[in-house]
Amino acid sequence: MGQSNQQPECNAAQDDGQLLQAQTLTIGCHLSSAKGYTAMARTAVGIGANTFQFFTRNPRGGKAKALDPKDLEQFHTYAADHGITRILAHAPYTLNAAGASDKVRNFAQATFEDDLCRMDQATPHQMYNFHPGCHVKQGAEVGIDRIVEIVNRVVHEDQTTMVLLETMAGKGTEVGRSFEEIAQIIDRIQLSDHIGVCLDTCHVWDAGYDIVNDLDGVLDAFDRTIGLDRLHAIHLNDSLNPRGSHKDRHACIGEGTIGFDALSAVTRHPRLRSLPFYLETPNDLDGYAQEIARLRAAWDNAL
Ligand code: FE
Ligand code: FE
Ligand code: ZN
Repeated sequence: MGQSNQQPECNAAQDDGQLLQAQTLTIGCHLSSAKGYTAMARTAVGIGANTFQFFTRNPRGGKAKALDPKDLEQFHTYAADHGITRILAHAPYTLNAAGASDKVRNFAQATFEDDLCRMDQATPHQMYNFHPGCHVKQGAEVGIDRIVEIVNRVVHEDQTTMVLLETMAGKGTEVGRSFEEIAQIIDRIQLSDHIGVCLDTCHVWDAGYDIVNDLDGVLDAFDRTIGLDRLHAIHLNDSLNPRGSHKDRHACIGEGTIGFDALSAVTRHPRLRSLPFYLETPNDLDGYAQEIARLRAAWDNAL
């Protein structure tokens, strides 16, 4: 899909030849995949988005639908024509690579393998996001061992899909509640060129990172522990709860404890502004369209 000819217009920044500064905000939201890829792309364009996120299968698990070659062909043409790039697939919530039982971990591995295989086939060079997992009282260290083991098994040298670990709120026994835990996983992945991070603003806020008053400090911490070059995507969500609450309840942009200004600042930050942003706010399509329009206007104004 339009890897060479339909990227947002870019021009090299004056002081850094490597840094391409996007001229368009790449933003979308989570969409239903029930009607296929072309339908998602059309819906995205209809709400002012130029990317989107979707579940690879029912979020509660189960078999994925067979790929439809005709739908995919239409999708790739439509995406190239409408500037849709960097789509993000989300693994089902039931995928727990840190699980305690063989059954849970075998399911995680089989789902992971199947999803990566399908993505390389259907939509090469895109991204696959997963929740690192829950250690279910085995302790974070054991959880991390188990996640590392499965990721090392499923990632292949020749794959084109980038696998992203999502930063978590630290609800229950979630692994990935700190940048250190994410780094401890990535450091032990053999083919780590295929591994990156998706930062969820609600989750890091709930985990205790102050992106409202000290975004620079949070990004410095991320850079020191994980490396900002690993950051490939952002889930842009407000939070219903105070910082450090470890709750993970998303709010609409500007209606939570993070607020519009801080979330807009995330999209406009020089180190983040070229990344793709995905809304996972409790919204219908009209609500998403309004959030996208408002965030775009603020982003364009800051150019
Ligand atoms: Fe998620
Ligand atoms: Fe998320
Ligand atoms: Zn969440």
